Amino acid sequence: MKVLVINCGSSSLKYQLIDSDSEQVLAKGLCERIGIDGRLTHRPAGKDKVEMEVPMPNHTEAVSLVLKALTDKDHGVIGSLSEISAVGHRIVHGGEKFNSATILNDEVLKEIEECNDLAPLHNPANLIGINACRELMPNVPMVGVFDTAFHQTMPRVAYLYGLPYEYYKKYHIRRYGFHGTSHSYVSKRAAEILGKKPEDLKTIVCHLGNGASICAVKNGKSVDTSMGFTPLEGLVMGTRSGDIDPAIIEYIARKENISLTDVIDVLNKKSGIQGLSQESSDFRDLHAAAAKGNVNAQIAIDVFSYHVVKYIGSYAAVMNGVDVIAFTAGIGENDPIIRANVMGYLNYLGTELDPVKNDCRGEERIISTDDSKVVAMVIPTNEELAIARETVALVK
Ligand code: AMP
Repeated sequence: MKVLVINCGSSSLKYQLIDSDSEQVLAKGLCERIGIDGRLTHRPAGKDKVEMEVPMPNHTEAVSLVLKALTDKDHGVIGSLSEISAVGHRIVHGGEKFNSATILNDEVLKEIEECNDLAPLHNPANLIGINACRELMPNVPMVGVFDTAFHQTMPRVAYLYGLPYEYYKKYHIRRYGFHGTSHSYVSKRAAEILGKKPEDLKTIVCHLGNGASICAVKNGKSVDTSMGFTPLEGLVMGTRSGDIDPAIIEYIARKENISLTDVIDVLNKKSGIQGLSQESSDFRDLHAAAAKGNVNAQIAIDVFSYHVVKYIGSYAAVMNGVDVIAFTAGIGENDPIIRANVMGYLNYLGTELDPVKNDCRGEERIISTDDSKVVAMVIPTNEELAIARETVALVK
């Protein structure tokens, strides 16, 4: 069965058409600058990439162009739209309402809309994408897969903040966590590779990308994760600060004479390794700069690694041990230096990195020595495949 996976942002839309039987990607692509002008990059498997500037005044037009590209006689990969059996949508926030993927109908869409307040930048865009697909493919079942759903198993001690309890009751302020589809996929895959059941493992998944989060997965369930009420909490990220003393917010507002909203903008867009290094949010640039003696770049690399270590240590503590540490996403998959930095702190856990095995990029691999007590692995994440699998499981 062929499943279209859609990940819709406010001005962009990523898609993949996946054959769920072979789990092969038939085509993937990206619509950018929706509502501004419009650019489509379409990559059909086994054929040349197509790039075109096409007007995309709205998301419905973008979805319509994607469907045309998929069925085009030259660069298409299917004969007609009737071959698409289901659409899986990535949805950022499902609040406390959704602890698993869900078939999207009018009632469910209303409930998702009620979560808009919790993710005002993401959920409305996701809904626009869903509505555009429903308009153009009214008879195709649609499934929503939530970034937050995997973390709904967190115990109360992990998800409650030390705030007046009424704020949790009145405003739903709690830790939700994100990247759930990735943490779920990688932790399951780690178990598969080791020939074990997820129920028998304590795994720490380090999703280290531009946005980064760590998840403690005990017996197959998320028990804690570093992102919180929003994706701003936790690790130092590409441009996000991660954890800071909340009192700093008001202090910066006063000192810089800017609004609280502006401070939050600084914490989201001008902080993290970009802010620390004053150089780049990309680790490739930072390593190049550090190699030339740029001290700030080296500081950013060290601070990033240190925060990863702190979370790994705290999750080993809350799980009373750890069997597997899995690295994934752009940095986790491709950056042996960061992995070595992090692993260098963890000898107390009985984990030992094999530097030869660690010298890899973007491939599934065990990177710890054969007698390491904790297995360290690189597992490329595949959120689209995970979404396609969940979609098939529901519509079948
Ligand atoms: P993601 O958000 O998962 O796409 O990750 C993007 C980030 O991964 C980039 O900002 C880089 O910091 C990092 N990255 C990607 N490729 C490499 C690489 N070859 N070496 C080091 N870091 C990389």
